[in-house]
Amino acid sequence: MGATPNTVVGAHPSSSALPQVQVHLQVDPITHAFSCRYRFALSAADTTTQVLLHLNRAFTLHRVRSPHAVQQRVTIVPYASDTVRRLQIRYASRSPRARWIELTYAGTMTKGEFTDHVTVFSGHSNWLPFRPYGEYELVQYELTVQVPPDYQVRSTVPAHRPRPGQWVFRGTTSAIEPTALIARQFYQTVSTTASPITLVKTGVAFTRVDTLLLHQTEAVVAYYNRTIGREAPIKQFTIFLPGTNNAAYGLLADATVITYSTFDVTDKRDALIVAHEISHKWWAYGSFHDENGWLSEAFATYSSLLYIQAQGDEAGYQAELARLAETAAGAPPLWGFNRYKHPFPMYRRVIYNKGTGILAALHRRVGTETFLKIMAQTAAQKTSTTLGFLATVDQIAGSETNGWLLQELKR
Ligand SMILES: [Zn+2]
Repeated sequence: MGATPNTVVGAHPSSSALPQVQVHLQVDPITHAFSCRYRFALSAADTTTQVLLHLNRAFTLHRVRSPHAVQQRVTIVPYASDTVRRLQIRYASRSPRARWIELTYAGTMTKGEFTDHVTVFSGHSNWLPFRPYGEYELVQYELTVQVPPDYQVRSTVPAHRPRPGQWVFRGTTSAIEPTALIARQFYQTVSTTASPITLVKTGVAFTRVDTLLLHQTEAVVAYYNRTIGREAPIKQFTIFLPGTNNAAYGLLADATVITYSTFDVTDKRDALIVAHEISHKWWAYGSFHDENGWLSEAFATYSSLLYIQAQGDEAGYQAELARLAETAAGAPPLWGFNRYKHPFPMYRRVIYNKGTGILAALHRRVGTETFLKIMAQTAAQKTSTTLGFLATVDQIAGSETNGWLLQELKR
């Protein structure tokens, strides 16, 4: 698709400047059907007179409310590599009254988002509306989940005064990431480490493999908190193991969802996945629609390599770098890369693999101490653009290295 991604520049807003989102979700765990009332309120600081919201077109939109708006339109539009339902709301001017939009919609979760034991609403479930190119826009949310009384709900934060059939969660995360896992029974365990790690599983009780995953996560978190994350350490972390067998992804709210039904960290590939996903706690701010996606994916991939290197596996580190370099050979420059002009595999080759090679080269050039200083500061600043990263490199490693890095990115 020929979409032109927006580039978000500048610092992240303080929480009072964030959109306020209220979600009321009602779920039938047997059929995986749901209905949702979603209210998006602009912050008082937001002076926009037009709000666009995208919603998965597979859902049935029952109602849109937008008091004080002068125009309200619903269309189907191309977006990224798909089509979505677009709501366009216009206001005459910045109204002194609260501006909010409420959508009521219903649907059924698709295969990959449920098993016989659990229904998953999370960052990759495509269940919430978002502003175009704003999937990872920060929002303050309250998520209320209604389920039959013999069901339980888990999220990335503890429920606020749960009672049978109703669970309320509050927090700040990106627009598509408020999370609810719904099941009759959860298996749950918490580590006794300085930063407690919680494992939450459905379907089958914990096995030896899950214990290994818990220990591996403790080690990864401790390593990151000493290095890339030392300026903004992880205080607690949750791993969800729903067994839906479709993907692994990190969530901004100190959690990751690993859905694979067989996942064993004694396999190096799985160990790298755990380390990659945990590091998304810091590497989540570069838009995945444009070249800035390397600030999320290459940084997470290289963080996982730093971890295995720190474990003494220099050979594994070198072998993985060589493998990624091979796939990146002949790929276009990262600088200005437009993913929508290429088939999907090119996104991985450039944004993940080539980007990882560039970080490895920067690491070699400046040495570990300076490199970790750059990474820790980039993480703490929630850097969302390549220019922002270059500024940090300039400040810490000097203008010559900054110029060299720019050339690498354009190569
Ligand atoms: Zn990733």
